[in-house]
Amino acid sequence: MSDPTRPAGPPKTFFGLSAPPGGRVERLIPVGSPAVGQSTLPLIIIQGAKPGPVAAFVAGLHGAEYVGIEALFRLARDLKTAELAGTAVLIPIVNMPAFQARRAFVCPIDDRNLNRVFPGRPDGTFSEVLAATLMEEVVGRADCLVDLHGGDLVEDLTPFCLCLESGRVDVDRLALDLARVFDLPIIGAIRGRGGGWNAGGSLMAAAAARGVPVIIAEVGGGGRLPEDDVERHRHGLMNVLRQMKMLPGWPTLGTAPVMVADMVWPLSDVDGVFYPHVRAGERVRAGTVIGLLHDYFGNLIKPVHAPASGLVMFVTTSPAVMRNGALMGIGVLEG
Ligand SMILES: [Zn+2]
Repeated sequence: MSDPTRPAGPPKTFFGLSAPPGGRVERLIPVGSPAVGQSTLPLIIIQGAKPGPVAAFVAGLHGAEYVGIEALFRLARDLKTAELAGTAVLIPIVNMPAFQARRAFVCPIDDRNLNRVFPGRPDGTFSEVLAATLMEEVVGRADCLVDLHGGDLVEDLTPFCLCLESGRVDVDRLALDLARVFDLPIIGAIRGRGGGWNAGGSLMAAAAARGVPVIIAEVGGGGRLPEDDVERHRHGLMNVLRQMKMLPGWPTLGTAPVMVADMVWPLSDVDGVFYPHVRAGERVRAGTVIGLLHDYFGNLIKPVHAPASGLVMFVTTSPAVMRNGALMGIGVLEG
């Protein structure tokens, strides 16, 4: 059902494009400039037959996190405009240079982590320009935003959803509702600017600061594309559209989530070789050995101890670790 309190108005535009009611648009949008480097953004606008809110779904800010990318391809194919109220705007691959280069974490054009440079700068490096463009043309025009991630090429991950406290009660309430209906087994409602998890520079933090209800959903990892993981993301997105009253029916929930209050990321303090002793999804107690660090001759340097009790949310699976590189993420349980 469409929201009767919302004025009908003409369909919203993104990058100067809109689709007529009941129609859709697919277009490769050029981004960047000859000075900072150029690439493209695949933009999909799906305009419901009925008026309603704008839901923005993006994936591939980290170009090798494939599950979210595939889930948006599927959603775009599955969504029926006759049932949809409002606009779904999808960008399945935000970081095209990283996707094409199969590059983990950073964009190969400027070696920046796109999810640390938001809200970006129109006169900055390629990643900063890309971030500013996304904020202006998509995020600032959306009534809600889902940023799909997963473990990167060298990470194993247990599915979780994150939202951030922005300080605006209505925005935060909707964000937490969206995190709940995404129906993943762990929800992290991160307070303030984030504690152990540094939200600074993330799309989530920038969108929340602009008053857009936003969640991050993380599923999959290791460069793989398992059907179950793709379906998890797709299911969550369909639930978000139902929660926003953009699709008929109610969200269907199958999981009683564990609530996480904060995340800590134990870092390596040496360049070396890492052997994790825990897996994603495992519970750990503060002080227990969660892995070993060896030197480049194969000798033990030191064991790594859990800095807090909680749930292992992701683990670096590559043995190659550098000083200040994340070894894993541990979710600190609420209460
Ligand atoms: Zn990511």
